[in-house]
Amino acid sequence: MNLNFCSKTLKEKVKFCGNGLHTGQYCEVVLEPAKEGTGINFFVDGQKIYSCIENVLSTQNCTVIGSGKTKIFTVEHLLSAIYGTEITDLNIYVYGIEIPVLDGSSKEFVLRFYDVGFEILNLKRSKTIIDKEIDFEIKTTKYKVSPYENFRIYCEVEYKIIGKQSLELNISSETYKDEISYAKTFCFFSDIEKIKSLGLGKGGSLENVLVIGDAGVINENRMYYKDEFVRHKILDFLGDFSLLNKYFCCKIHVSNPNHYANYEFVRYLKNKI
Ligand SMILES: [Zn+2]
Repeated sequence: MNLNFCSKTLKEKVKFCGNGLHTGQYCEVVLEPAKEGTGINFFVDGQKIYSCIENVLSTQNCTVIGSGKTKIFTVEHLLSAIYGTEITDLNIYVYGIEIPVLDGSSKEFVLRFYDVGFEILNLKRSKTIIDKEIDFEIKTTKYKVSPYENFRIYCEVEYKIIGKQSLELNISSETYKDEISYAKTFCFFSDIEKIKSLGLGKGGSLENVLVIGDAGVINENRMYYKDEFVRHKILDFLGDFSLLNKYFCCKIHVSNPNHYANYEFVRYLKNKI
């Protein structure tokens, strides 16, 4: 079991721009290398917002982070890309109110990270060992954390029309890039009206969301994996889970996750470890 690892940031700054999935508003995000030990921080309107569970303002359809009146919508795909590629320190400058949706996955973030490369920092960190089982349940969502020599996720989902999908894999920068990062966000056609009535989903389109109609996926040609839905749920889970700012040796079994349940699970786990 390798418990120690080095802090990591990006070698160069990278920029992403585009409209947000929920607000539909244009936004630019600049990611800059950060000093070791500083963690993942958002900077918006001159304000610094640490990426942590205490700064989550909402989990309705997406994860919103912020402080006071300052809100950043849909941080989960970017945070997932950062956590999945094991970046521990990064400054995220946000010019707008939502992280761009891009193609609905975290692929563009991850591929750019690989393009510019990673900088290994001197600060050594230790993984957190889980030595007992920890269970958490909220409505139809269940989590079980158990001891394991690596960081491993098992996720299962069940939806009308799609049926059951499950996937189990060790999460490393490489497996994250190949097996998770291309998975796009999705929604049911029948839920679109409800999402719109909440003032959300304004930037959603058949280009960046897989839409499930009564007869199956309407834009099936946009799918990358056969079991893309469970993979996107792992992508989302890792983004929310990153808000613990810890790295683990454990296996996590997740059934039917959503952002709200992930948030409650992370808060529960934080008190348990
Ligand atoms: Zn998502």
